[in-house]
Amino acid sequence: MKTKVTIKGLVLKVASRCNLNCEYCYMYNLGDKTYKSQPKFMSQEIVENLLTKVKIYLIQSGSTSFQFIFHGGEPLLVEPDFYQSFVRKAKQILPSFTKIDYVVQTNGVLLSSVWCKILGELGIRIGISLDGLTEQDNRHRLDHQQRSSLNATLEGLVNAQSSKHLKYLPGILSVINLESNPTELYAHYKKLRVRHINFLLPDGTHDNLPKNFKPERTDYADWLIELFDIWFDDLDKDKPQIILFNQILNLILGGGGEYETFGGSKNLFLIIETNGDIEPQDSLKACGEGFTKTNLNIRTHTLEDSFQQPLIKNCIESHQKLCGQCKNCLVVEVCRGGFITHRYSKNRGFNNPSIYCRDLEKLLTYVSSKVEVLVNTKM
Ligand code: SF4
Ligand code: SF4
Repeated sequence: MKTKVTIKGLVLKVASRCNLNCEYCYMYNLGDKTYKSQPKFMSQEIVENLLTKVKIYLIQSGSTSFQFIFHGGEPLLVEPDFYQSFVRKAKQILPSFTKIDYVVQTNGVLLSSVWCKILGELGIRIGISLDGLTEQDNRHRLDHQQRSSLNATLEGLVNAQSSKHLKYLPGILSVINLESNPTELYAHYKKLRVRHINFLLPDGTHDNLPKNFKPERTDYADWLIELFDIWFDDLDKDKPQIILFNQILNLILGGGGEYETFGGSKNLFLIIETNGDIEPQDSLKACGEGFTKTNLNIRTHTLEDSFQQPLIKNCIESHQKLCGQCKNCLVVEVCRGGFITHRYSKNRGFNNPSIYCRDLEKLLTYVSSKVEVLVNTKM
């Protein structure tokens, strides 16, 4: 029998610790300290358990594609043979009808050319977290001794870009820093030949707002609109793809798409902690101590068991279950309440608009009108 929920993949917390201590990190600095009781690294026993449960899920669902995202903490704190063994076991255990995609999301500090060779030979794609190319852009990404991570990350990026073993250039994941200048940032990324960038809004909830965030203003929308204009009007065929904008444009043009921030699709990733705990969206750690704990573990539960767990169910259906304000919103078909973590409050759970509501409304209205002008001009 086919399962009713189709998940795209698992985010594997292969390391629960990190060599950096970014100010906005939901793993360590937004109110949840449960990482301290987690094993530092995922064991082979957990790997075997999770691959067996993925096998059961794939056979029951018939899914022809599945993604493993190696995450942390910092996933390159794990020894390389962890990855070699993981991919070898996955080939042995998982059904051959499923195409497996592997991604590692790293801060890049340890990304040597040797790591690039190992990851490339295993077919693991690389995403690098970086907030820009200046010290100012990266001022929230310091190590535990308050030292800058910028040069080490840039070295990692260059290693990955120049590695002949990697089939795909690394993508960049940036948390928006309002102190950065979007025009300069875009020019820097272009100069560095970055091909894919995603921008994230800093995490927070209605009770735990991001530092210096002012919900009554639209600073993030203004920042993103400046970036959107430069990017949208850039006719260079090799310009970087900005995933956030591609997703918004796709939704505005009626293309559907399965995104966790916007749109009406279900959220389709589960988290596996280093001890095998099955959890929902990891940024929900910003909702408070132990918030993401579900009492489910990959040793004793299947992936299907987790689909009915209330918090995981909320996550999966976050773009379907909207508050009254969202239901009546002019941009609801694209926004769908935004990212689940940003909707949480202790009093009302997820029955809220996003803390970034004003920003989202302004940004989405702006992009829609720009697309409309373009479509009308071409008709
Ligand atoms: S690199 Fe990632 S996991 Fe490490 S502290 Fe920064 S945001 Fe957190
Ligand atoms: S813009 Fe605000 S009200 Fe509209 S759907 Fe998004 S979060 Fe809800």
